[in-house]
Amino acid sequence: MVDFTLTEEQLMIQKLARDYAQKEVAPKIKENDQKAFFDKTILTKMAELGILGLSIPTKYGGSGGDYISLGLACEELEYVDTSLRVILSVHVGLNSLTLLTWGTEAQKQKYLVPQGKGEKSATFALTEPNAGSDVVAIETKAKKDGDHWILNGEKMWISLADVADHFLIFAWTDQEKRKKRDHSGISCFIVERAFLGVTTATIHGKLGIRAGNTGSIAMSDVKVPKENLLGQEGEGFKIAMFALDQGRYTVASGATGLVHACLDASVKYANERKTFGDVIGKHQLVKEMISDMATSYEIARMLWLKAGWLKNTGQRCTKETSLAKMFACDASERASGNAVQTYGAYGYSDEYPVERFYRNCKGAVIYEGSREIHKLMQADYVLGYREDKPTRCSLPIPE
Ligand SMILES: Cc1cc2nc3c(=O)[nH]c(=O)nc-3n(C[C@H](O)[C@H](O)[C@H](O)COP(=O)(O)OP(=O)(O)OC[C@H]3O[C@@H](n4cnc5c(N)ncnc54)[C@H](O)[C@@H]3O)c2cc1C
Repeated sequence: MVDFTLTEEQLMIQKLARDYAQKEVAPKIKENDQKAFFDKTILTKMAELGILGLSIPTKYGGSGGDYISLGLACEELEYVDTSLRVILSVHVGLNSLTLLTWGTEAQKQKYLVPQGKGEKSATFALTEPNAGSDVVAIETKAKKDGDHWILNGEKMWISLADVADHFLIFAWTDQEKRKKRDHSGISCFIVERAFLGVTTATIHGKLGIRAGNTGSIAMSDVKVPKENLLGQEGEGFKIAMFALDQGRYTVASGATGLVHACLDASVKYANERKTFGDVIGKHQLVKEMISDMATSYEIARMLWLKAGWLKNTGQRCTKETSLAKMFACDASERASGNAVQTYGAYGYSDEYPVERFYRNCKGAVIYEGSREIHKLMQADYVLGYREDKPTRCSLPIPE
């Protein structure tokens, strides 16, 4: 049976995220964006409200909730500003759910519990100055040294790099395999900001998500205890792809919220602004833009909800998540462009939020698999060139 009714718990989490974002963040987001200021009190409040612990089981310090609740929260957060949703994408989607699925009990107690409680924040660091879409081009190395691994390398374009306490770092542990571009030579490590040799910096001058933090992580002879290897040696690539399945889901649901914000802002303005003796909403070409936003919103929502349902029922959904992410991000780019267009010259100024939506949407068309990478994936699935094989660990069904 297909049931589109949200449960009481899902509605409650949706309302919690909406109230927080609209009442507490919306009034200050324009200023934070203008000043490119990452407001750390947002993390504290999101922790207090249990938003940072969403979908992390209560036995690991989280606030629980199923994966649809997580998606609903992402929609509500990105309705106000993309930077809020990015926090959930990296802290919950890319890091905590990966730790929950691939971590040992000791790793979960040490790292996931404080992340679930929101006492520590976490992110995911795969990208490097010379490696984005082409993951096996990463250069970071990890060498065994007694009870430790020694990590050297640099990560770039990492959300919350200059803020988070814990990082998932991907590095080559087999140099011979690296020469052959064999991804089974990559491993994943839990690295703490506090480890000696870790330095981070913020990237300035970004197009959008200016109220968010994006930065780099440099590692120079960082001693990582051997018990901080996540999964088995050589499983790093699989873990990264698993993490992206969860991160992309939050990006898809978040971008859906951005389409919704563009739609609401455009409908309001189209019913107020008059040209040629009538409100602009009465002009057919403005209706076309509004119609596209309304249609895209519904489709984007259906796509991420389907992925959420598959996750809730324990089914692998790399294909469905990729499709939801690709569609929603493209739709948000089109919707925000059309929202600016609907506002005319006023849309071109920061008097209204639509210019911020227009700048914010672009990141998600690039990160967590660019539009082009997702197009290739979708084509490969239908052409029969790609098939998802079972992984050693799979995302737990929510409690
Ligand atoms: C705001 C922001 C936040 C980010 N946060 C994180 C994070 O938290 N953690 C993290 O690890 N990374 C993060 N990233 C990095 C992001 O994941 C990469 O930017 C992304 O994977 C693309 O890599 P690239 O920028 O190196 O582009 P490239 O891989 O160099 O690609 C450049 C262009 O070529 C296209 N292209 C590449 N290969 C192909 C191909 N085979 N066929 C067709 N077209 C192709 C791409 O689609 C793109 O248009 C973030 C990026 C941004 C902008």
